[in-house]
Amino acid sequence: MTANESRTPQVVGRFAPSPSGPMHLGNARTAMLAWLDVRARGGSMLLRIEDLDRERCRPEHVALVRRDLAWLGLDWDAETPAQSLRDDAYSAAIDRLAGTGLIYPCFCSRRDRAVASAPHGGGEAVYPGTCRGLDQGQRDRLIAEGRRPALRVMLPDSVVSVADRVNEGISQLLATDVGDIIVRRSDGLYAYQLAVVVDDATDGVTDVVRGDDLVASAPRQVALQQLLGLPTPTYAHVPLVLGDDGERLAKRHGAVSLAELRDRGVTPSQVVGRLAEISGLGDGAPLSVSDLVAGFRLERVSNVAARLGRVALA
Ligand code: GLU
Repeated sequence: MTANESRTPQVVGRFAPSPSGPMHLGNARTAMLAWLDVRARGGSMLLRIEDLDRERCRPEHVALVRRDLAWLGLDWDAETPAQSLRDDAYSAAIDRLAGTGLIYPCFCSRRDRAVASAPHGGGEAVYPGTCRGLDQGQRDRLIAEGRRPALRVMLPDSVVSVADRVNEGISQLLATDVGDIIVRRSDGLYAYQLAVVVDDATDGVTDVVRGDDLVASAPRQVALQQLLGLPTPTYAHVPLVLGDDGERLAKRHGAVSLAELRDRGVTPSQVVGRLAEISGLGDGAPLSVSDLVAGFRLERVSNVAARLGRVALA
């Protein structure tokens, strides 16, 4: 290792797809930007399949995600265990939080939660803390009645600010903007917010590049990192791809899944050329992802939601 390398901490990024459907151009652009950011800085890229929701994440979609990434030329150095294999780590994290008295059972049904909560931001609900104050006798009675609680973590009553490499970042007052969050659902599934924090730390991820639909999740994730004594990675939330009507890219905008485009004879370099163009990195001419690595700087990628316009690729 040269003196210079020993001073530069290794950049570790990740693809973290939830394989609940075929990969579309929006996910592909986010993955491409994450890959370019890591490769341009000489870092390593991980793949982690985020299949917490066992019912929605189908094995055929997992296979397709791997194929789609590889088809675009987006390679990874290692695949880390899928979330469905990490229950022990999530359970251990909850035990650690419980050891400091921060975990409590929540018996509210989805309906109770909806009634008791004010809609907030992107339709998210702020939990008002209904079950925080139950005493042990009340909890025991509800359990004896057959009610299965979710587990929530008490988040600190403080402001958490998260810096972002491509936008202005976000500050939230956790108590009023978020409320205590679920870490394990009543059906026993661990919550994404807990899992992603545990996984990024376990996998040694230093740099998270993901869609800006997750920007509002960042402060609660940072709060969990702090409660668990885990490092905070650097965040970049990149704009989602929009269709020509300004809405988030979806099926009605045409052939938007990579599998469909591939079936219609579209080449990976045509897809990459178009994704580069809407990211301000090219004129739409076919390109391979490796053509884009030299000089790539994520901070320069247009921070305006990228409009694909007509999906004229196929
Ligand atoms: N699995 C999430 C998704 O596909 C991404 C989670 C993350 O990057 O933190 O939307």
